[in-house]
Amino acid sequence: QLNVMNTVQWMQRANEKMQTNKDELTALDQPIGDGDHGINMARGFQEVASKLEEATYTNVSEVFKDVAMTLMSKVGGASGPLFGTAFLKLSTKLKGEELVDQTSFSAALNEAVNGLKQRGKAEEGEKTMVDMWASIAHYFTDNEHSTPDGLMASADAALEKIKAMTATKGRAAYFKEKTIGHQDPGSASTYFIFEALAEVWK
Ligand code: ADP
Ligand code: MG
Ligand code: MG
Repeated sequence: QLNVMNTVQWMQRANEKMQTNKDELTALDQPIGDGDHGINMARGFQEVASKLEEATYTNVSEVFKDVAMTLMSKVGGASGPLFGTAFLKLSTKLKGEELVDQTSFSAALNEAVNGLKQRGKAEEGEKTMVDMWASIAHYFTDNEHSTPDGLMASADAALEKIKAMTATKGRAAYFKEKTIGHQDPGSASTYFIFEALAEVWK
């Protein structure tokens, strides 16, 4: 169950992960992109952390709204508007809910995936963050008794699958088959976001 307190902790933890893995995310974006993904995410989540620290919230939806707005305005490139859209969908779908249970969270994640697909004009299987978000949404939808370890096992499997895909959307699409065997940076950062959730949840 998500409440204001653990949602804020989740986002703070996600920020720590973006700072720790900044260089790794940037390195992933070098061979199949423009080498800025770690810089983009570290800057964006630093701003998110500062924003959440100074504000007070009465529900989870408001937290996600500030996360969305901050990422949209502070993260440049393709990923800012995409992560912004995903968190905005979580916010809208969870509006007014005091405690977010798994059923609501799954529904909100599915909305986030739809929003990402629309915004990025992407489908699953195109080696973008859509694939990682979709795998997380599937996990919560398909597993009534979800666990942090179950979530991470499923996310690990998704990373392997995505690594083997050929990119057909975003900058990486210019590299086509050369992207096979390289990890998609946006899927890796999405993985860290949900790893942060798994850690806060334990
Ligand atoms: P940019 O490509 O503008 O430099 P980033 O490096 O921050 O932006 O983010 C790149 C990530 O964004 C990719 O790894 C991919 O996951 C995601 N991405 C890029 N284009 C799309 C798209 N059209 N749909 C969904 N995700 C996308
Ligand atoms: Mg980039
Ligand atoms: Mg860029």
